[in-house]
Amino acid sequence: MSTVTRLLGIALAGVGFVILFFGMNTGDVLSWIWSFVGLIVMSFGFALLTAGRTAQKKPPPPTVTEIRCSSCDFKEIRDFKKGDYVLMPVGDACPKCHSAMTIEGVYIVREEPEVKYNV
Ligand SMILES: [Zn+2]
Repeated sequence: MSTVTRLLGIALAGVGFVILFFGMNTGDVLSWIWSFVGLIVMSFGFALLTAGRTAQKKPPPPTVTEIRCSSCDFKEIRDFKKGDYVLMPVGDACPKCHSAMTIEGVYIVREEPEVKYNV
């Protein structure tokens, strides 16, 4: 879908440029109208191009920290905080047995790949 939008943007920018170019070279009274139309078509094409580019930009994948209790099997996953590292003791006590907890792992949550259906 984004490829179609990009191609349409390129086509419109090209058509707009041709209209602008020939409009300026006709020399008659209508030349400024053609130039104006060409500019509008061109800017519309470039708007489509930039819109497609921003839509493709994805936010970085979130990082999570896995915390594990050293005494029981309690496990918690929370957002990664700057300075977190594996086996770092966590200040918070286990909500189940109030023992000390350590960081078991730091993971980057990968986004699920897009499911493609064969039609
Ligand atoms: Zn515990």
